[in-house]
Amino acid sequence: MNRDRDESSWRATLEARKVVKEHGITTLPVDPIALARSLNIEVMAKEASTEGISGMLLRVGNAFGIAYATHINNLGFQNFSVAHELGHYFLPGHIDAVLGDCDLHESHAGFRSNDRYEIEADHFAANLLMPTPLFTDAIDCAGEGFAAIESLAELCVTSLTATAIRYTQCTRDAMAIIVSAGDRVNYCFMSDTLKEVEGLEWIRKGEALPQDSATFRFNRDPYRVESANRTAGTSNLQDWFGSRFNIETTEEVIGLGSYGRTLTVLTPTDLPDFEEIQEEEEMMESWKPRFRR
Ligand SMILES: [Zn+2]
Repeated sequence: MNRDRDESSWRATLEARKVVKEHGITTLPVDPIALARSLNIEVMAKEASTEGISGMLLRVGNAFGIAYATHINNLGFQNFSVAHELGHYFLPGHIDAVLGDCDLHESHAGFRSNDRYEIEADHFAANLLMPTPLFTDAIDCAGEGFAAIESLAELCVTSLTATAIRYTQCTRDAMAIIVSAGDRVNYCFMSDTLKEVEGLEWIRKGEALPQDSATFRFNRDPYRVESANRTAGTSNLQDWFGSRFNIETTEEVIGLGSYGRTLTVLTPTDLPDFEEIQEEEEMMESWKPRFRR
C-alpha cells in the first residue's frame, strides 16, 4: 500500500517536473487555469451537483475542458482541483483510464480518494503548484512547523492540507502531518528525516488518535473544527508512532472548517543522537558478562 503510494507519487512528480520545465514556469504562484488555457483547454467554474466532487475533466471530440467546483470557497482548493484535472490530462494512461468511452470524469481531489488515478493526479497537482526547486527554495525562508506551512500556502495559493503534505515531502526537518476526523486518523505523512528514526511505525487510515493528544481533545468539539479554530500542545512521538524512544513533540492543531477534518503538525522538540545511543548500547553489550557452558 505504502509502496504503491510512493510509486504513484514518484510517477506524478516526474511528470509535473516535465510540465513545469516545458512550460517555462519559473515563479510562484503557478496559475493552473492560465496553463490550461494555454493548452486550449476551456476552464469553467461550476457548482457541484454531487457533494464531494472537486472538478471534472470533459472531452468534446478532440478538445478538452475542465470544470472546477465552487462549493468550497477557497482559491487554494480550486487551484488544486484544476491542477488535479491537468494531472489526468498529462499523466500517461490517465485519459484512457478515467474517461474510457465516456466524455466526463468526476474527480475527488485532495488526497481523499483511494483510487490509484485520483492519488496520482493529486500528487501531480501538488508538484505542479509547488514545484521543486521553487518550493524548496521557499521553504528555506519560511520558518518551521505550521507557521511555515501557512506562509507557503499563501505564497503558492494552495490549500493548507496540500501545502502541509508537500512541505512534509520537501523539508529537511523531522516532522509529520496528520489529517483526522473525530477520533480517527484519515492519513499521515512523515518527512524523510522523521522516517529515519528507528522503530517508528506508519500510522494507518482509520487508526485511533492517541487519547493523550491535543488533537483528540480538539476533535471532541466539532464546532471548533468547523470554525477553523486552532490549538497547540505537546505530546509524545511514542503515542503516535510507537518506537522505543521517548521523544517530546509540539503538536499544532488546526480545524479545516467545512471539511470537518483537522490538520495536525507534529514537530519533535529535540531528536536524540541515535549514533550516540547505539554506541552506548554496544558498549553495554560488550561489558555484559558471558558464561560459557
Ligand atoms: Zn480525478
